[in-house]
Amino acid sequence: MAKTAIITGGSRGIGEAMALKLGELGYNVVINYRSESSKALSDNLAAKISSQYGVETLVVRADVSKYEDCEALVKATVDKFGENIDALVNNAGITNNCNWIDIKREQYENVINTNLMSFLHMTHLVLPYMVNHSSKDNQCCIVNTSSVGGLTGVINQADYCASKSGIIGMTRALALEFAGRGVRVNAIAPGMIMTDMLRGVNQDELNALAATIPQGFIGDVSDIAGALGYILTAPYLTGQIISPNGGFVLQ
Ligand code: NDP
Repeated sequence: MAKTAIITGGSRGIGEAMALKLGELGYNVVINYRSESSKALSDNLAAKISSQYGVETLVVRADVSKYEDCEALVKATVDKFGENIDALVNNAGITNNCNWIDIKREQYENVINTNLMSFLHMTHLVLPYMVNHSSKDNQCCIVNTSSVGGLTGVINQADYCASKSGIIGMTRALALEFAGRGVRVNAIAPGMIMTDMLRGVNQDELNALAATIPQGFIGDVSDIAGALGYILTAPYLTGQIISPNGGFVLQ
């Protein structure tokens, strides 16, 4: 019987690649997005996952920085697929890239609410369903997208780094809390990956960024989807932070 997975921020970039991976692994996939402009992208992705992997999909627009929207997302999932939610991929994220003098309170609150509070909201809402049907032989999984920004500091990204470090803390704490109840909790901390987050950057800047990476190139969304695939199929892995980053945090 197909399992059910929810992915937040699944419309494009890393989330899109991870949604495809969930389908490939046989999950029915609930794809969440926020912007009206991403509706068509999400619908097309859902159709592609269904036709390619023969699983069912559901597309739900919700601003996961808000608890009520998270509740509606989980309710829509349960209404369509039932109460056995097997995987939650918390992936929605934004960045400000602004210095700590000029940044406005609303800007950094938005980053914390989107990147960290949404992860707490979603896990709070989904875990009761998971513990009801998980066991050692039927494990449920939570996978959180952190960042190398959560492992090191990044100039002009204090809010982003705070959110991504917070994700690492919650991942370890929840992994411990639920290890004995069949729920594994892990995080992926990507290095620089080519998505819309980097597409605004011109070629010279991209070359300069690539030069800061020991392996010398910017990663691809498939690197992160691959890490997700590993985590979902690794029954003895919990509380870990997997970081595909080209050697970035070794320096
Ligand atoms: P993109 O900007 O390409 O995609 C961001 C995704 O998050 C979109 O699906 C977007 O939805 C969604 N989203 C943003 N805010 C909300 C919200 N309030 N509610 C629901 N969905 C929301 O980014 P990436 O794919 O690059 O990033 C994905 C994750 O990976 C993020 O958590 C990011 O911090 C992390 N990351 C990325 C790195 C990179 O180099 N790209 C490096 C390290 C970590 P919509 O399409 O509707 O706007």
